[in-house]
Amino acid sequence: MAIRILSGDITEQHVDVIVNAANSALLGGGGVDGAIHRAGGPAILAECQDLRRSHYGKGLPTGQAVATTAGRLDARWVIHTVGPVYSKEEDRSALLASCYRESLALADRLGADSIAFPAVSAGVYGWPAESAADIAVATVRETATSVEDIRFVLFNDDVLAAFQRAA
Ligand code: ADP
Repeated sequence: MAIRILSGDITEQHVDVIVNAANSALLGGGGVDGAIHRAGGPAILAECQDLRRSHYGKGLPTGQAVATTAGRLDARWVIHTVGPVYSKEEDRSALLASCYRESLALADRLGADSIAFPAVSAGVYGWPAESAADIAVATVRETATSVEDIRFVLFNDDVLAAFQRAA
């Protein structure tokens, strides 16, 4: 298993799975979520809406992951995972770790060989970059998976530097 830290736009990765830092509503949003839906087209959102209706009436719980196809993206699937909002009062690290673990478990079930992760929760959800990077890298390293090519694709310099340090 190879873990790589890359700079760039995750929607431009050629991989089996692109992971989306979604929100619980699964109805799109800003940040990487918006970028994935813009680049992937309406088919992804339509599948998200179906999943919402059929399985997640109250929304996808934090720390869980679901897959859709990838529309126009150069990927086979998008895995949508909901990161925790950062809290100073409450330690939500286990939920953030769960996003990476559940995404890899789902990628395994799909038979994926390669996966690209964004920095889940490190944007609008306010997670400090250093801590987000430590949890992401440690969790992926500790998780048994048949996915051989694992990439973190980071969009801004602070987060990129934090992931490079963590790795
Ligand atoms: P969250 O709500 O989980 O914090 P965000 O999308 O706000 O999700 O941010 C998560 C991370 O994704 C941030 O570090 C943000 O800079 C980054 N990001 C935004 N757009 C892209 C993109 N196109 N590719 C990769 N990462 C992105």
